[in-house]
Amino acid sequence: MILVVTGSRFAKSDEHGSRIRHGLLWAAGARDGAFGDHELWDGSASGADGIAHDLAREDFGWKAKRLTASWSECDPTWVDPIGKAVPCAPGHRKVRSNGTTPYCPTAGFRRNALMISELVKVEGRKVVVGFPIPALGSRGTVDCLTRALHAGLPIVSVPLTSKDAL
Ligand SMILES: [Zn+2]
Repeated sequence: MILVVTGSRFAKSDEHGSRIRHGLLWAAGARDGAFGDHELWDGSASGADGIAHDLAREDFGWKAKRLTASWSECDPTWVDPIGKAVPCAPGHRKVRSNGTTPYCPTAGFRRNALMISELVKVEGRKVVVGFPIPALGSRGTVDCLTRALHAGLPIVSVPLTSKDAL
């Protein structure tokens, strides 16, 4: 089956790796220590995406595909089908707390929309697995799960807790 992962960029492998691992194997229906023959897609972000990607490739031997958001690029023609994102307009670009280069805040939503529409086109079993940290917001994860829900796809949400949120 195809598992699409969306999750908090603040997930850490030492703190959350085990829960992410169990969540993926549970969603894939893995039994008796066999990982099965699955494919994992992620949004190529830091945190949960990278942890899930590494588990899939290195531990489970699954195929993996990464769909990167182009944070530097805007797309003023993009109309959000679920109407949540603020469209690209003058002054909408932001700077991350740890960075200096402005980015487009709709890029992640556009990547999510693409990932979900690509998944809809694929035949066979599929599921979207979310690893949000609700206490830290996880707006992007909620966005991706919402898009999957609107598209009629099966979804699983495995919430994580964070020491940083205490
Ligand atoms: Zn933009």
